[in-house]
Amino acid sequence: MSNKLILVGNDIDLVNARKWSHIILHHSWSKDSQKVNDWDNIKKYQMQWRYAGNNITEKVAKDLIASGVKGVEPPDKDIAYNYGEEYAMDGNGNPTLKFRIGRPLSMVGAHTKRYNEFAVGYCIVGNFDLAPPKEEEIEMFLTVARALMSWFKIEPKNVIGHYETYVLLGQAKDKKEAQSIKSCPGLMINMDDIRHRLE
Ligand SMILES: [Zn+2]
Repeated sequence: MSNKLILVGNDIDLVNARKWSHIILHHSWSKDSQKVNDWDNIKKYQMQWRYAGNNITEKVAKDLIASGVKGVEPPDKDIAYNYGEEYAMDGNGNPTLKFRIGRPLSMVGAHTKRYNEFAVGYCIVGNFDLAPPKEEEIEMFLTVARALMSWFKIEPKNVIGHYETYVLLGQAKDKKEAQSIKSCPGLMINMDDIRHRLE
């Protein structure tokens, strides 16, 4: 608990923060390049018009919407999440785990329908449907989650994976059905285990 926690504390404006009651974990689903700054690329992608996983021009977006196509997404004001992490090169060219800062805690998120007003969004870059994250990736998330939990009095049961919101909102009957809607933060992440470690 340590240096990382202090680093996080320095970057957080607690005075103007919203009243956060939940933390929602996500994965980017896209691969972590481990080289370039994927966080900034995700941010660029989310701040432009999007359709079916690709950026499109405003003109194409408006034409699609006019012809009744669903799922065209307008540019966001910032990256969708408050915090995240990814591997990127250190000065010696070795991949090293980096903490990333997104939206300030004074700003509503754009990561989980019906939860953005009160849930801090945290995204680990990578696709954890295919393989689990490394222990140090989980530990970085736990360090940040513990800090947020202590500052905002967030209970462990309110630290949830994106797919779990479908069950909580009554849109899926169980975990399996929820994960078939969206598997985020990845089929290989065990949210019960994460909550247990935060108790
Ligand atoms: Zn998600």
